[in-house]
Amino acid sequence: MKILLAEDDKISRRLLERVFSGYGYDVVSASDGDEAWRILEEPEHPHLLVLDWMMPGVTGVEIVKRLRERPDGHTYYAIILTSLDTPDDLAYALDGGADEFVSKPYHADALRARANVGRRIVSLHHTLSEKIRLLQEANATISHLAATDELTTLYNRRYFNENLTKSISAAKRYKFPLSLVMVDIDKFKAVNDTYGHSSGDTVLKAFADILRSLARTEDVSARWGGEEFIILLTHTARDGAAVMAERVRSKMASECLRVTSIPVTVSLGVVEWGDGEDPELLIKRADKALYRAKDEGRNRVVLG
Ligand code: GH3
Ligand code: MG
Ligand code: MG
Ligand code: MG
Repeated sequence: MKILLAEDDKISRRLLERVFSGYGYDVVSASDGDEAWRILEEPEHPHLLVLDWMMPGVTGVEIVKRLRERPDGHTYYAIILTSLDTPDDLAYALDGGADEFVSKPYHADALRARANVGRRIVSLHHTLSEKIRLLQEANATISHLAATDELTTLYNRRYFNENLTKSISAAKRYKFPLSLVMVDIDKFKAVNDTYGHSSGDTVLKAFADILRSLARTEDVSARWGGEEFIILLTHTARDGAAVMAERVRSKMASECLRVTSIPVTVSLGVVEWGDGEDPELLIKRADKALYRAKDEGRNRVVLG
């Protein structure tokens, strides 16, 4: 472990270096307070410190005070080494943020033992921070998985519902329009029956890509279930949503055959949220519009 030894007196510094190198520490030394502070500003600086109190430039106690105010999230263990030895001096140094106070002349093995306490604390903190980082990564993966449809990597129904509820309350508060597009792949059962289930999956993925290519970043596209998809368009009134829906319909009609070798179309229902309407009713209306599109011959957009 790295240890910073800051001591302005050359002989004392050499002695400290010898003591700590002998105990297997990776020694970094500074001959005054300013140099010590510069070292502590470097990216891979030591977290275990033995600081002389009285030094030219910044004093050891001042360094510790500054470190405690620095929001870098590191744990430091700082031993103040000084010829001052009254209880008032000790209280001043510890209140200033030091962890240990050792008066000169010091006993090398006692100083080493105190530094080892610091080593334990610093390495425990490193281990904990690493565990926290891994947990945060795992949490991010879990949140992503909980919100994502595995096949299409679009959002799933659970995420969509959460988002819809939030978006509706924001639309209520800030008075912006919000629309919903419900999409269902036409005659999809026949796709599976004719080309096989895995070709069906390829069509689902191709449609997801089309949605991604046409949706704005603030739109939320999700797989509602099976061969049904849903798009939430915030800050968009019904006519704007109808334009988007028509683009989706037309791109699917013209590109699905080229991309998957299977001719597939989609039907879409478009509705705009009415003030006070709850998510369930909004979705029900979108569903109704979609089924009218089916009744009217499929491969079309119907406004509800
Ligand atoms: P319509 O035009 O009226 O919507 O007819 P349709 O055949 O699309 O409707 P139906 O509800 O009869 O069939 C939907 C089909 O979608 C049946 C189901 O097996 C298939 N399906 C649902 N999820 C998946 C999936 O993940 N992969 C594949 N390949 N097929 C799926
Ligand atoms: Mg000094
Ligand atoms: Mg369906
Ligand atoms: Mg269908």
